[in-house]
Amino acid sequence: MTSVSTNLDHLGWIPRPRLLALRRLGIETTEDLLTHFPRRHEDRTEFPQFPREETDAPICLCGEVTKTSLRRFGGWKKIFEATLEESQPNALSEPLVCRWFNLHYVQKMIATGQRIVVFGRPRLRGKRMCMDHPEFEVIENDEEISIHFRRITPIYPATEGLSQRVLRGIIYRVLHEFPEPGWQPIAPASLVSGERSDAIRAIHFPESWEARDAAREHLVLSEFFAMQMLIASRRFESSARAGQAHCGSGALLDKFLKGLPFELTAAQRKVISEIRRDLATNRPMNRLLQGDVGSGKTVVAIAAMLLAVEAGYQAAFMAPTQILAEQHYEVLRRWLEPLSVHIALRTAARQEESGPLPLFSGDDAHQIIVGTHALLYESVSFSNLGLTVIDEQHKFGVAQRARLTAREPVPDVLVMTATPIPRTLTMTIYGDLDVSTIDEMPRNRGKIVTAVRDTSKLGEVLSFLRTQLEKGRQLYVIYPLIDESDKLDVKAAAAEYELWRERLHPFRCELLHGRIPAPEKQQIMDRFRRGDTNALISTTVLEVGVDVPNATIMLIENAERFGLAQLHQLRGRIGRGEHKSFCILLSSSQTQEASAKLAVLERTTNGFEVAEADWELRGPGDVLGTAQSGLPALKIGDLKRDADLMRRARAAAMSIFETDPRLESPENQRFRGLIVEQQGKSFSHVS
Ligand code: ADP
Ligand code: MG
Repeated sequence: MTSVSTNLDHLGWIPRPRLLALRRLGIETTEDLLTHFPRRHEDRTEFPQFPREETDAPICLCGEVTKTSLRRFGGWKKIFEATLEESQPNALSEPLVCRWFNLHYVQKMIATGQRIVVFGRPRLRGKRMCMDHPEFEVIENDEEISIHFRRITPIYPATEGLSQRVLRGIIYRVLHEFPEPGWQPIAPASLVSGERSDAIRAIHFPESWEARDAAREHLVLSEFFAMQMLIASRRFESSARAGQAHCGSGALLDKFLKGLPFELTAAQRKVISEIRRDLATNRPMNRLLQGDVGSGKTVVAIAAMLLAVEAGYQAAFMAPTQILAEQHYEVLRRWLEPLSVHIALRTAARQEESGPLPLFSGDDAHQIIVGTHALLYESVSFSNLGLTVIDEQHKFGVAQRARLTAREPVPDVLVMTATPIPRTLTMTIYGDLDVSTIDEMPRNRGKIVTAVRDTSKLGEVLSFLRTQLEKGRQLYVIYPLIDESDKLDVKAAAAEYELWRERLHPFRCELLHGRIPAPEKQQIMDRFRRGDTNALISTTVLEVGVDVPNATIMLIENAERFGLAQLHQLRGRIGRGEHKSFCILLSSSQTQEASAKLAVLERTTNGFEVAEADWELRGPGDVLGTAQSGLPALKIGDLKRDADLMRRARAAAMSIFETDPRLESPENQRFRGLIVEQQGKSFSHVS
């Protein structure tokens, strides 16, 4: 008896080479095979009569071969024609001429008198209605025909060593030999209608388009539900762990806010109170703070850390790069030393302590520890860790996050990201986190004007840059490097720098790239921040978080080589002060793709809109690596198109966990296995 887990070689009729080809696709069992879903379907239902006009969509026709011919053209080339006539012709019937160029085998397969079925696009060629290179089949037995033609036909993802036809034939036969292979339902009946086995059958060989759509909905909901069950289980697992409250009275925070040179935005106040609520409970906090570049996340992080410090705990502030860690350290010193908060810097390159004597003695000597992500792997720094803030979460995978929360006792965790994610993705990628969003920019921001310019306009661009530099503004020049470890690239960078020094003379330039040793990098940044340097010629090491309000001009060379998200991040380095800012995207590319991409940035400075557009242009796979999400790959669902189904699946999964967080009730038992199975499919490729 066949079950869904029957190995395909046990069926006994699939030839060895095909089994091997299937295996290369990861298909070993009947379940693997039947969940190898069609990418799309073609309407190959038979067209009612032979067409007298061209059609845009390909159509399926069935008729009798009344004539064949083989002609030469252009010397050695050959054209084979088969004239097809309707089986029951009427007065208006026109024959159809099927043509194949240079395809030897076709002429051996088709002969006068046969009935054949063809699928292709009819085109008028002179007076004749023709179909070039149609898919075809000689009708010998009607069943074989009914697999590939005269129906809504499945088209599978392209496969090496296995034609559509062969794959379709195998799937058809497996489905029909084993009508009830014992599919277990995945999603609860409250979420999906009908049986999973029917949905599987109908997704491959639907009777109608409605049936196809219903089957797809069933399967997508099931897939999303399984994924959301995994996410929900992670979420409930971590919140079930015993944590501690890490929240002081707020007196220190009030003092800090009073001393700030600006008012918090309403959005900043809102997210601070959300975080504060989390800190005050003994449930471990797992919160994501989303906010576009420049929205002021650092202040929020400081607020959270002060609450933890006031409660007598240490707080850790982790940044992805040395430059950023140093910058945070400086900002914290400036703002927190007056409050007598003790701060330490821990990076691979530098260890420093600052500030007056600690408020608390003994174990609490370092109240806030700033560092690079390397801090993660080092436990010595902490004696009493209450809160960890991770800046720029997008550089940070799920596995690393898991490592953090594995600490005992478990700290509260706040992760911050400026990589805007389309809202519908958030509930998947960050589905196990609570989400706070800063959806408002500080009011004092100067506008950013973005313009795409062709490289040939460099002269004009340069004179514009000079007028800005003369006004006292500072400039970033960004150029793409493919590989910072590449010696050639470093040489190219140096040459580039010389060029810019000449171009901008007498303004002072400095060069920044990833291969410059950390202390030197720091000095370069310091000189730029102080205004000693007018222009920084840099690679993308500048990308995240760097904050120099007087730098209001950015020129990005070969802008088309960067992704949209990265360009948006880079642009976020300007527009941080009150002056109007200018971002010039220099590009020599004429491709449609490149101009569509760059036009997005001219149109908007809103990170969410950029992310949506990026998604539109590239698809979700590229917006965020799947490995980072730590979730199994999707087989049928589409995060964008099916966002609504994801919402429903999520609600169903959450409601199961809300009423039965340990999945103890009998009707919930089957979900345990589902979660284990999902787990097996996911984390394997992360850690
Ligand atoms: P990001 O969210 O990109 O990390 P930052 O926290 O670096 O942004 O903030 C960008 C700049 O805006 C900093 O100079 C910061 O001091 C300033 N800032 C933050 N909040 C406000 C506010 N409410 N009003 C004015 N300026 C602010
Ligand atoms: Mg930041």
